[in-house]
Amino acid sequence: MSRAYNFCAGPAALPTAVLERAREEIADWHGKGLSIMEMSHRSKDYVSVAQKAEQDLRDLLAIPANYKVLFMQGGASSQFSMIPMNLFRGASAADYVADYVNTGQWSIKAIAEAQRYGQVNVIASTEHNKFTSAPTQSELQLSANASYVHYTPNETIGGVAFDYIPDVGDKPLVADFSSSILSEPLDVSKFGLIYAGAQKNIGPAGLCVVIVREDLLGNTIAGTPTMFDYKVCADNDSMYNTPPTYSWYLAGLVFEWLKEQGGLEAIAAVNRRKAEKLYGFIDSNDFYANPVAKANRSIMNVPFTLADAALDKTFLAESEAAGLLNLAGHRSVGGMRASIYNAVSEQAVDALIGFMGDFAKRHG
Ligand code: PMP
Repeated sequence: MSRAYNFCAGPAALPTAVLERAREEIADWHGKGLSIMEMSHRSKDYVSVAQKAEQDLRDLLAIPANYKVLFMQGGASSQFSMIPMNLFRGASAADYVADYVNTGQWSIKAIAEAQRYGQVNVIASTEHNKFTSAPTQSELQLSANASYVHYTPNETIGGVAFDYIPDVGDKPLVADFSSSILSEPLDVSKFGLIYAGAQKNIGPAGLCVVIVREDLLGNTIAGTPTMFDYKVCADNDSMYNTPPTYSWYLAGLVFEWLKEQGGLEAIAAVNRRKAEKLYGFIDSNDFYANPVAKANRSIMNVPFTLADAALDKTFLAESEAAGLLNLAGHRSVGGMRASIYNAVSEQAVDALIGFMGDFAKRHG
Protein backbone atom coordinates (compact mmCIF):
# COMPACT_ATOMS: atom_id res chain seq x y z
CA MET A 1 0.00 0.00 0.00
CA SER A 2 1.36 3.40 -0.95
CA ARG A 3 0.44 6.18 1.47
CA ALA A 4 1.46 9.80 0.95
CA TYR A 5 2.09 12.17 3.85
CA ASN A 6 -1.20 13.99 4.36
CA PHE A 7 -1.21 17.37 6.14
CA CYS A 8 -4.90 18.11 5.53
CA ALA A 9 -6.68 20.18 8.21
CA GLY A 10 -9.74 17.97 7.95
CA PRO A 11 -10.93 15.50 6.97
CA ALA A 12 -7.45 14.54 8.03
CA ALA A 13 -5.02 11.63 8.00
CA LEU A 14 -6.15 8.46 9.75
CA PRO A 15 -3.69 5.92 11.17
CA THR A 16 -2.79 3.39 8.46
CA ALA A 17 -3.22 0.56 10.97
CA VAL A 18 -6.83 1.66 11.51
CA LEU A 19 -7.56 1.69 7.79
CA GLU A 20 -6.03 -1.74 7.40
CA ARG A 21 -8.15 -3.12 10.21
CA ALA A 22 -11.26 -1.53 8.66
CA ARG A 23 -10.34 -3.11 5.33
CA GLU A 24 -10.04 -6.53 6.93
CA GLU A 25 -13.42 -6.17 8.58
CA ILE A 26 -15.32 -4.32 5.90
CA ALA A 27 -17.29 -7.10 4.19
CA ASP A 28 -17.50 -9.58 7.03
CA TRP A 29 -17.32 -8.14 10.52
CA HIS A 30 -16.02 -10.73 13.02
CA GLY A 31 -17.32 -13.63 10.95
CA LYS A 32 -20.93 -12.45 11.13
CA GLY A 33 -21.32 -12.40 7.36
CA LEU A 34 -22.11 -8.71 7.06
CA SER A 35 -20.38 -5.38 7.47
CA ILE A 36 -20.80 -2.96 10.34
CA MET A 37 -22.56 -0.60 7.90
CA GLU A 38 -25.26 -3.16 7.22
CA MET A 39 -26.17 -3.93 10.83
CA SER A 40 -29.01 -2.54 12.87
CA HIS A 41 -27.69 0.10 15.24
CA ARG A 42 -29.81 -1.63 17.89
CA SER A 43 -28.25 -5.05 17.38
CA LYS A 44 -26.22 -6.56 20.20
CA ASP A 45 -23.12 -6.58 18.02
CA TYR A 46 -23.35 -2.93 17.03
CA VAL A 47 -24.23 -1.77 20.54
CA SER A 48 -21.11 -3.53 21.83
CA VAL A 49 -18.98 -1.65 19.27
CA ALA A 50 -20.59 1.67 20.21
CA GLN A 51 -20.21 1.08 23.94
CA LYS A 52 -16.59 0.05 23.61
CA ALA A 53 -15.83 3.21 21.66
CA GLU A 54 -17.37 5.30 24.42
CA GLN A 55 -15.51 3.41 27.14
CA ASP A 56 -12.18 3.76 25.34
CA LEU A 57 -12.74 7.50 24.92
CA ARG A 58 -13.61 7.73 28.61
CA ASP A 59 -10.42 5.88 29.49
CA LEU A 60 -8.24 8.02 27.23
CA LEU A 61 -9.53 11.32 28.59
CA ALA A 62 -10.26 10.05 32.12
CA ILE A 63 -13.78 11.43 31.77
CA PRO A 64 -15.43 11.66 35.20
CA ALA A 65 -18.60 9.61 35.82
CA ASN A 66 -20.82 12.70 36.05
CA TYR A 67 -20.21 13.52 32.38
CA LYS A 68 -22.21 12.14 29.46
CA VAL A 69 -20.47 11.30 26.20
CA LEU A 70 -22.70 11.97 23.19
CA PHE A 71 -22.06 10.84 19.63
CA MET A 72 -23.96 13.40 17.57
CA GLN A 73 -24.29 14.44 13.93
CA GLY A 74 -24.13 17.74 12.12
CA GLY A 75 -20.46 18.42 12.78
CA ALA A 76 -19.06 20.94 15.21
CA SER A 77 -21.01 23.62 13.34
CA SER A 78 -24.35 22.28 14.62
CA GLN A 79 -22.96 22.58 18.15
CA PHE A 80 -22.66 26.32 17.56
CA SER A 81 -26.51 26.26 17.68
CA MET A 82 -27.09 23.42 20.15
CA ILE A 83 -24.92 25.02 22.82
CA PRO A 84 -27.02 28.19 23.17
CA MET A 85 -30.24 26.15 22.85
CA ASN A 86 -29.21 23.87 25.71
CA LEU A 87 -27.23 26.19 27.95
CA PHE A 88 -28.93 29.59 27.96
CA ARG A 89 -30.62 30.16 31.30
CA GLY A 90 -33.11 32.86 32.32
CA ALA A 91 -36.75 33.56 33.00
CA SER A 92 -37.25 34.65 29.40
CA ALA A 93 -35.27 34.99 26.19
CA ALA A 94 -34.52 38.60 27.13
CA ASP A 95 -32.30 37.27 29.95
CA TYR A 96 -30.15 35.01 27.79
CA VAL A 97 -26.52 36.14 28.02
CA ALA A 98 -23.33 34.23 27.20
CA ASP A 99 -19.65 35.13 27.19
CA TYR A 100 -17.56 34.27 24.12
CA VAL A 101 -13.84 34.67 23.51
CA ASN A 102 -12.92 35.56 19.93
CA THR A 103 -9.63 34.13 18.71
CA GLY A 104 -10.41 33.62 15.03
CA GLN A 105 -12.65 32.23 12.32
CA TRP A 106 -14.24 29.40 14.32
CA SER A 107 -14.94 31.62 17.32
CA ILE A 108 -16.62 34.08 14.96
CA LYS A 109 -18.91 31.38 13.59
CA ALA A 110 -19.81 30.18 17.08
CA ILE A 111 -20.58 33.75 18.15
CA ALA A 112 -22.79 34.40 15.12
CA GLU A 113 -24.95 31.36 15.88
CA ALA A 114 -25.31 32.11 19.59
CA GLN A 115 -26.42 35.66 18.74
CA ARG A 116 -29.50 34.20 17.08
CA TYR A 117 -30.80 33.11 20.48
CA GLY A 118 -29.51 35.60 23.02
CA GLN A 119 -26.98 38.27 23.89
CA VAL A 120 -23.33 37.48 23.33
CA ASN A 121 -20.67 39.43 25.20
CA VAL A 122 -17.31 39.11 23.47
CA ILE A 123 -15.22 39.15 26.63
CA ALA A 124 -11.86 39.22 24.84
CA SER A 125 -10.74 39.31 21.23
CA THR A 126 -7.40 39.18 19.50
CA GLU A 127 -8.75 40.64 16.27
CA HIS A 128 -6.47 43.65 16.90
CA ASN A 129 -3.41 41.53 16.14
CA LYS A 130 -5.09 39.58 13.34
CA PHE A 131 -5.68 36.62 15.66
CA THR A 132 -2.04 35.80 16.21
CA SER A 133 -2.35 35.24 19.96
CA ALA A 134 -4.83 34.16 22.63
CA PRO A 135 -5.90 36.53 25.41
CA THR A 136 -4.46 36.01 28.88
CA GLN A 137 -6.63 35.11 31.83
CA SER A 138 -6.53 38.68 33.16
CA GLU A 139 -7.84 39.98 29.83
CA LEU A 140 -11.07 37.97 30.09
CA GLN A 141 -13.83 40.39 31.12
CA LEU A 142 -16.29 37.84 32.53
CA SER A 143 -19.94 38.93 32.78
CA ALA A 144 -21.74 38.35 36.09
CA ASN A 145 -24.95 37.28 34.31
CA ALA A 146 -23.56 34.94 31.62
CA SER A 147 -25.10 31.45 31.40
CA TYR A 148 -21.79 30.02 30.15
CA VAL A 149 -18.38 30.96 28.73
CA HIS A 150 -17.33 29.69 25.29
CA TYR A 151 -13.87 29.59 23.75
CA THR A 152 -11.91 27.82 21.02
CA PRO A 153 -8.80 26.25 22.60
CA ASN A 154 -7.25 25.60 19.20
CA GLU A 155 -8.13 27.76 16.18
CA THR A 156 -7.57 25.47 13.22
CA ILE A 157 -7.14 28.17 10.58
CA GLY A 158 -4.88 30.59 12.44
CA GLY A 159 -2.96 27.89 14.32
CA VAL A 160 -3.56 29.70 17.63
CA ALA A 161 -3.91 27.76 20.87
CA PHE A 162 -4.58 28.68 24.48
CA ASP A 163 -1.73 27.70 26.77
CA TYR A 164 -4.03 27.56 29.78
CA ILE A 165 -7.61 26.59 30.66
CA PRO A 166 -9.57 29.75 31.47
CA ASP A 167 -10.78 30.08 35.05
CA VAL A 168 -14.41 31.17 34.79
CA GLY A 169 -15.47 30.61 38.40
CA ASP A 170 -18.71 28.67 38.71
CA LYS A 171 -19.90 29.30 35.13
CA PRO A 172 -19.89 26.32 32.77
CA LEU A 173 -16.84 26.54 30.51
CA VAL A 174 -17.64 25.40 26.96
CA ALA A 175 -14.85 24.56 24.53
CA ASP A 176 -14.61 23.73 20.84
CA PHE A 177 -11.84 21.12 20.83
CA SER A 178 -12.44 20.10 17.20
CA SER A 179 -8.80 20.37 16.17
CA SER A 180 -6.99 19.46 19.37
CA ILE A 181 -9.02 16.85 21.24
CA LEU A 182 -6.93 13.78 22.14
CA SER A 183 -3.68 15.53 21.21
CA GLU A 184 -2.67 15.70 24.89
CA PRO A 185 -4.20 14.89 28.30
CA LEU A 186 -7.03 17.17 29.39
CA ASP A 187 -8.67 17.82 32.76
CA VAL A 188 -12.29 17.33 31.68
CA SER A 189 -13.57 18.32 35.14
CA LYS A 190 -12.67 21.95 34.39
CA PHE A 191 -15.35 22.07 31.68
CA GLY A 192 -19.12 22.17 31.50
CA LEU A 193 -19.05 20.99 27.90
CA ILE A 194 -16.43 19.91 25.39
CA TYR A 195 -17.24 19.29 21.74
CA ALA A 196 -15.23 18.20 18.74
CA GLY A 197 -16.02 17.39 15.13
CA ALA A 198 -14.55 13.98 14.41
CA GLN A 199 -12.66 14.49 11.19
CA LYS A 200 -9.28 15.45 12.68
CA ASN A 201 -8.18 13.41 15.70
CA ILE A 202 -11.24 11.18 16.15
CA GLY A 203 -12.14 9.54 12.85
CA PRO A 204 -13.94 10.23 9.60
CA ALA A 205 -16.46 13.07 9.20
CA GLY A 206 -20.08 12.55 10.16
CA LEU A 207 -19.71 12.49 13.92
CA CYS A 208 -19.36 15.12 16.57
CA VAL A 209 -18.40 14.10 20.08
CA VAL A 210 -19.94 16.07 22.95
CA ILE A 211 -18.80 15.58 26.55
CA VAL A 212 -21.22 17.33 28.86
CA ARG A 213 -21.66 17.57 32.63
CA GLU A 214 -24.92 15.91 33.61
CA ASP A 215 -26.33 18.81 35.59
CA LEU A 216 -26.40 20.92 32.41
CA LEU A 217 -28.91 18.62 30.70
CA GLY A 218 -32.66 19.08 30.53
CA ASN A 219 -33.06 22.88 30.27
CA THR A 220 -33.44 23.66 26.59
CA ILE A 221 -34.86 26.96 25.41
CA ALA A 222 -38.35 27.05 23.89
CA GLY A 223 -38.54 25.66 20.39
CA THR A 224 -35.40 23.49 20.60
CA PRO A 225 -35.75 20.60 18.11
CA THR A 226 -35.86 17.16 19.73
CA MET A 227 -32.72 16.13 17.88
CA PHE A 228 -30.83 19.11 19.34
CA ASP A 229 -31.69 18.33 22.96
CA TYR A 230 -28.65 16.86 24.73
CA LYS A 231 -30.87 15.16 27.30
CA VAL A 232 -32.80 13.30 24.60
CA CYS A 233 -29.51 12.23 23.09
CA ALA A 234 -28.09 11.14 26.46
CA ASP A 235 -31.26 9.31 27.54
CA ASN A 236 -31.15 7.33 24.29
CA ASP A 237 -27.43 6.49 24.37
CA SER A 238 -26.96 8.67 21.25
CA MET A 239 -29.42 6.47 19.37
CA TYR A 240 -32.62 8.52 19.40
CA ASN A 241 -32.40 8.11 15.64
CA THR A 242 -29.98 6.17 13.46
CA PRO A 243 -26.45 7.32 14.31
CA PRO A 244 -23.63 7.42 11.71
CA THR A 245 -22.73 3.85 12.54
CA TYR A 246 -19.64 3.49 10.39
CA SER A 247 -18.04 6.72 11.60
CA TRP A 248 -18.69 5.72 15.18
CA TYR A 249 -17.10 2.30 14.57
CA LEU A 250 -14.04 3.88 12.95
CA ALA A 251 -13.73 6.35 15.82
CA GLY A 252 -13.65 3.31 18.09
CA LEU A 253 -10.78 1.85 16.08
CA VAL A 254 -8.90 5.15 16.40
CA PHE A 255 -9.42 5.13 20.18
CA GLU A 256 -8.07 1.57 20.34
CA TRP A 257 -5.08 2.65 18.26
CA LEU A 258 -4.45 5.57 20.61
CA LYS A 259 -4.48 3.25 23.60
CA GLU A 260 -1.97 1.01 21.80
CA GLN A 261 0.28 4.05 21.30
CA GLY A 262 0.37 4.44 25.07
CA GLY A 263 -2.52 6.88 25.52
CA LEU A 264 -2.52 10.65 25.57
CA GLU A 265 0.69 11.21 27.55
CA ALA A 266 2.61 9.21 24.98
CA ILE A 267 0.96 10.78 21.93
CA ALA A 268 1.40 14.25 23.44
CA ALA A 269 5.15 13.71 23.73
CA VAL A 270 5.30 12.81 20.02
CA ASN A 271 3.05 15.75 19.12
CA ARG A 272 5.21 18.21 21.03
CA ARG A 273 8.35 16.88 19.40
CA LYS A 274 6.79 17.17 15.93
CA ALA A 275 5.66 20.74 16.57
CA GLU A 276 8.98 21.82 18.11
CA LYS A 277 10.87 20.49 15.11
CA LEU A 278 8.64 22.22 12.58
CA TYR A 279 8.45 25.60 14.37
CA GLY A 280 12.16 25.37 15.10
CA PHE A 281 12.88 24.94 11.42
CA ILE A 282 10.50 27.75 10.39
CA ASP A 283 12.16 30.12 12.89
CA SER A 284 15.67 29.11 11.83
CA ASN A 285 15.60 30.81 8.43
CA ASP A 286 14.28 33.91 6.66
CA PHE A 287 12.50 32.01 3.91
CA TYR A 288 9.58 30.77 6.08
CA ALA A 289 7.62 32.55 8.79
CA ASN A 290 4.86 31.87 11.31
CA PRO A 291 3.18 34.96 12.84
CA VAL A 292 1.74 33.40 16.01
CA ALA A 293 2.97 34.41 19.49
CA LYS A 294 5.27 31.62 20.68
CA ALA A 295 3.20 30.76 23.74
CA ASN A 296 0.10 30.35 21.59
CA ARG A 297 1.44 28.26 18.75
CA SER A 298 -0.79 25.28 18.05
CA ILE A 299 0.86 21.87 18.17
CA MET A 300 -1.75 20.60 15.68
CA ASN A 301 -2.02 23.28 12.97
CA VAL A 302 1.10 25.06 11.78
CA PRO A 303 0.44 27.88 9.30
CA PHE A 304 3.44 29.37 7.57
CA THR A 305 4.21 31.78 4.76
CA LEU A 306 6.95 31.89 2.17
CA ALA A 307 9.10 35.02 1.92
CA ASP A 308 7.75 35.53 -1.60
CA ALA A 309 4.06 34.65 -2.01
CA ALA A 310 4.63 34.41 -5.76
CA LEU A 311 6.30 31.04 -4.99
CA ASP A 312 3.21 29.60 -3.27
CA LYS A 313 1.91 27.79 -6.34
CA THR A 314 5.32 26.28 -7.08
CA PHE A 315 5.66 25.19 -3.45
CA LEU A 316 2.30 23.43 -3.55
CA ALA A 317 2.97 21.73 -6.88
CA GLU A 318 6.44 20.55 -5.86
CA SER A 319 5.38 19.38 -2.40
CA GLU A 320 2.50 17.39 -3.90
CA ALA A 321 4.86 15.80 -6.41
CA ALA A 322 7.09 14.85 -3.47
CA GLY A 323 4.18 13.06 -1.76
CA LEU A 324 3.43 15.80 0.78
CA LEU A 325 -0.28 16.52 0.38
CA ASN A 326 -2.69 19.29 1.34
CA LEU A 327 -0.29 22.01 2.49
CA ALA A 328 -2.35 24.97 1.22
CA GLY A 329 -3.50 27.36 3.94
CA HIS A 330 -7.22 27.90 4.51
CA ARG A 331 -8.89 29.63 1.57
CA SER A 332 -9.65 32.65 3.79
CA VAL A 333 -6.00 33.33 4.70
CA GLY A 334 -3.80 31.77 2.00
CA GLY A 335 -0.19 30.82 2.61
CA MET A 336 0.57 27.30 3.81
CA ARG A 337 -0.59 25.17 6.69
CA ALA A 338 0.66 21.82 7.88
CA SER A 339 -1.84 20.05 10.11
CA ILE A 340 0.08 17.53 12.16
CA TYR A 341 -2.61 15.62 14.00
CA ASN A 342 -2.05 12.38 15.93
CA ALA A 343 -2.05 10.22 12.79
CA VAL A 344 0.63 12.33 11.10
CA SER A 345 3.89 10.63 12.01
CA GLU A 346 7.14 12.21 13.09
CA GLN A 347 8.57 10.76 9.88
CA ALA A 348 6.03 12.81 7.89
CA VAL A 349 7.14 15.98 9.70
CA ASP A 350 10.80 15.14 9.05
CA ALA A 351 10.00 14.65 5.36
CA LEU A 352 8.20 18.01 5.26
CA ILE A 353 11.13 19.80 6.90
CA GLY A 354 13.52 18.13 4.48
CA PHE A 355 11.43 19.28 1.53
CA MET A 356 11.08 22.83 2.90
CA GLY A 357 14.83 23.13 3.39
CA ASP A 358 15.53 21.91 -0.11
CA PHE A 359 12.87 24.21 -1.62
CA ALA A 360 14.32 27.24 0.19
CA LYS A 361 17.81 26.43 -1.11
CA ARG A 362 16.57 26.19 -4.66
CA HIS A 363 14.32 29.25 -4.59
CA GLY A 364 15.73 31.45 -1.82
N1 PMP B 1 -14.52 24.35 14.95
C1 PMP B 1 -13.25 24.16 14.61
C2 PMP B 1 -12.18 24.59 15.56
C3 PMP B 1 -12.94 23.57 13.39
O1 PMP B 1 -11.66 23.37 13.03
C4 PMP B 1 -13.97 23.16 12.52
C5 PMP B 1 -13.72 22.47 11.20
N2 PMP B 1 -12.54 22.67 10.60
C6 PMP B 1 -15.30 23.41 12.92
C7 PMP B 1 -15.54 23.99 14.14
C8 PMP B 1 -16.45 23.02 12.03
O2 PMP B 1 -16.57 21.65 12.03
P1 PMP B 1 -17.61 20.86 11.12
O3 PMP B 1 -17.14 20.97 9.72
O4 PMP B 1 -17.54 19.49 11.69
O5 PMP B 1 -18.95 21.50 11.32
